[in-house]
Amino acid sequence: MRIFDPHIHMTSRTTDDYERMAAAGVAALVEPAFWLGQPRTNVGSFTDYFDGLVGWEPFRASQFGIRHHCAIALNPKEANDPRCRAVLEVLPRYLDKDGVVAVGEIGYDSMTAEEDAAFAAQLALAVAHELPALVHTPHRDKVRGTERSLAMVESAGIDPGRVVLDHLNEVTVGMVAGTGCWMGFSIYPETKMSPTRMVAILREYGLERILVNSAADWGRSDPLLTRQTGKAMLAAGFSEDDVDRVLWRNPVEFYGQSKRLELSGDDPDTFSTFEGNSIRRGGS
Ligand SMILES: [Zn+2]
Repeated sequence: MRIFDPHIHMTSRTTDDYERMAAAGVAALVEPAFWLGQPRTNVGSFTDYFDGLVGWEPFRASQFGIRHHCAIALNPKEANDPRCRAVLEVLPRYLDKDGVVAVGEIGYDSMTAEEDAAFAAQLALAVAHELPALVHTPHRDKVRGTERSLAMVESAGIDPGRVVLDHLNEVTVGMVAGTGCWMGFSIYPETKMSPTRMVAILREYGLERILVNSAADWGRSDPLLTRQTGKAMLAAGFSEDDVDRVLWRNPVEFYGQSKRLELSGDDPDTFSTFEGNSIRRGGS
C-alpha cells in the first residue's frame, strides 16, 4: 500500500513517527502551515517556521525516504491577531519556492471579519501563484463555516477543482459534493472521523475528489490512520486499486496541479498517467 498523506503536521511529531510512517507505506506527504500552540507575536516567528517547512522538515523526512512538501499560509486562528497580519506580505516570497505545493491552511476558525479578509487575500494569492488552496473548515459551527467557505471560494473566482475543503464529516460532505471542490477528511483516533465512518462515506459518495489525511497535530492523533483507512476499505470490499486511488493517486492529482510535486518510486509505471503534468521522478 503506497500512501500520500495530504495533510499532516510533522512539526508536532517525533522522528520515530517518520520511521513508523515509512514502514507503513507513507512515501509522500504535504505539511500545511498552522498554529504552533503558543501564540506568535511577530512576523519573524512565522518566517522561521516557514523556513523550517521548506528546509528542515523535508530533510528530516528524506532520512526515511519520505517526500515532504508543504502548504504555506497565515492560519485562520492567528489571522485575528493584528501582530500577525503582516505575514500576508511575506507569503508571495514563499509561494514561489520549490516544495510549496499549495496555499494553506486557510479558512475560518471563529468566522470573524479579520478571518474573512485573510481568507479572501490568500485565495487571491492562490490564483496569482497558480497554486491549489487547502481550506480548513472550523470545528465549531461546522455547517455555517462550510457554507461560508464555499461562498468565499465562489466569490474569489478560483477554479473549485483547485480547492480542497478539509475536516469534513457526514454532515458537511453533502454540501461540498456537488460544488467541484475536493473533499478532505481527517481521520482521528477519537474525534472527527474514524476509518469505519470514512469507508461509509466512500460507499455513499464514491472515490472522486476525496482526500484522506491523518492531520496528526497537537491533539491525540495517529499518523498511521491513513493506512488503517486503507485496510478498512479492503475489509469492506474495495479493491487494492480503489485504495491506491484514494491514498495515492487522488492527492497526487490534487497537488500535482501546482506542477511542483517531486515524487519517487520503485514501480516504473507509478507516474505514467501523470506524464506531461510535470511530476518529476526523483531519487529517494
Ligand atoms: Zn491542519
